[in-house]
Amino acid sequence: MSDIRAWRPIIFSCPNTGDRVQGLLPAVASELPADELHSISCAACDGVHFINLQTGAVVSPKGS
Ligand SMILES: [Zn+2]
Repeated sequence: MSDIRAWRPIIFSCPNTGDRVQGLLPAVASELPADELHSISCAACDGVHFINLQTGAVVSPKGS
């Protein structure tokens, strides 16, 4: 069966505090659009950041 969800740990830098934070991303990037973003809770600033699933980079929402 293929309904097992695998997760991969990542380390990202919190854009607010600059701290390195560990998080989990779904390891199913091949099924997702290239620009798919995953919201992740940040233990450093208690906020939510968006991670690009393809690159693992923190993406800042483009403000107006
Ligand atoms: Zn943060």
